Amino acid sequence: MKTDDLREAYLEFFASKGCVRKPSDVLAPNDPTVLFTPAGMNQFKREFMGLGDPGFKRATTCQKCIRTGDIENVGKTPRHMTFFEMLGNFSFGDYFKREAIHWAWEFLVDTLKIDPKRLTFTVYLDDDEAFDIWHKEIGVPTDRITRMGEDDNFWPAGAPTQGPNGVCGPCSEIFYHGDGIEEVEIWNLVFTQYNRVGPGQLEPLPNKNIDTGMGLERAAAALQGVRSNFEIDVFAPIVDAAADVLGVDYAQARDTLDGVRIRRASDHARAITFCLHENIRPGPEKQGYVVRRLLRRAVLDAYQMGRREPFLYTLAPVVAESMRRGYPELVDSVPRVQHIIRDEEERFLRNLENGMRLLNDTFRKTKAAGSDVIAGDAAFDLLSTYGIPVEVTESLAADQNLRVDMPGVEAARTKFSAVSRGTTEAADVFATGPLDTLKEAYHKGSEFLGYTSTEAPATV
Ligand code: ATP
Ligand code: MG
Ligand code: MG
Ligand code: MG
Repeated sequence: MKTDDLREAYLEFFASKGCVRKPSDVLAPNDPTVLFTPAGMNQFKREFMGLGDPGFKRATTCQKCIRTGDIENVGKTPRHMTFFEMLGNFSFGDYFKREAIHWAWEFLVDTLKIDPKRLTFTVYLDDDEAFDIWHKEIGVPTDRITRMGEDDNFWPAGAPTQGPNGVCGPCSEIFYHGDGIEEVEIWNLVFTQYNRVGPGQLEPLPNKNIDTGMGLERAAAALQGVRSNFEIDVFAPIVDAAADVLGVDYAQARDTLDGVRIRRASDHARAITFCLHENIRPGPEKQGYVVRRLLRRAVLDAYQMGRREPFLYTLAPVVAESMRRGYPELVDSVPRVQHIIRDEEERFLRNLENGMRLLNDTFRKTKAAGSDVIAGDAAFDLLSTYGIPVEVTESLAADQNLRVDMPGVEAARTKFSAVSRGTTEAADVFATGPLDTLKEAYHKGSEFLGYTSTEAPATV
């Protein structure tokens, strides 16, 4: 089944159960508690708290999500992406556990025709109700249902003992077992049935909610019999285009470090294209910083594969084309998106030769000194002078079994803020590098002749 058809089949199935089809929320919602939308339920927080329209009780969506916490896994695991689509069905004080579980089964087994022998299930330790529905009502053998603790099968994770207070509940997860690959979690059914008022004190809610999330790419990979999210029909063209522009045969590179790099660059290209479409531009803070970090990470990957020219911008039209059915509006943004990506790539590449030299020197010196910790001021220097985000240094260091002294980075940052004066916001300098900032501020039009990394911060 094609990914586009799966998206449609899901939404249609739940519409047939009385769920109202709602559009995806934006990626950067007007919600101070999150930078990006991490899950389908976020747009329904009011409804979950009982503050919504009383007539609106069931919904289904395909939500565009970004999870910054997963960035370091991208390309390394077969199933984590920065940007992904989450299919969901929701109940606001209406249908509950019984329907949620029965419908999940019906959709997977009757509609998608997945062989039940390929599925296993988890429930929360003491959630006998969910266990019995899977076992007694649906007929899943007991050895295919595992009881797991609050870290895995409670939302928010660890809520009963660690908190936070508020609406919470057990969940039940569904795993798919493909041939020759590790099992993969495809769907999480959350039963928000409690209000936590203190450690271990869970009061039943008068209005119980359902919040489910199925990873579209993971489910598509299962249905298409491919090993990873990166091989599904809507994603493979992006991987192929990335491999092509970087001059690599992906089939051969797949299980090497270049394979990781190509998957990461493809993923980041897709995330960045969606962000820029929504006008979330690379910048010094918040969502913009995430976009900048993703872009620079991809450029560094390509650089390490020998690419010295911008390349990421060439992937934006491929993203728009492969995502066209779900997001036809992307196509119109492509020229604007490409322009911004290319510009940012060029700015970053300008100083990268020196930046990479310093980075490799730093790694070498650290090892030569018998340490595995990169000093904070060295990591900060890479950021402030060459625009290499600390998170990127961390991740490049991790490739060589090194880590970064993060408290040391913060100390260097504080010291830097104290010495930096003038009209330029320190935050701008952190992200673009003082070379760029100086060049723009004081040397408009003329060629910049260079400062040493120690001079630059004090001059700003
Ligand atoms: P995992 O344990 O694999 O990291 P999760 O438990 O963090 O997944 P949930 O928060 O339960 O994921 O989200 C619901 C569903 O969204 C998951 O079952 C999965 O199918 C999908 N999903 C979660 N994170 C990602 C990701 N980074 N990329 C692609 N799909 C994802
Ligand atoms: Mg996760
Ligand atoms: Mg999980
Ligand atoms: Mg989960």
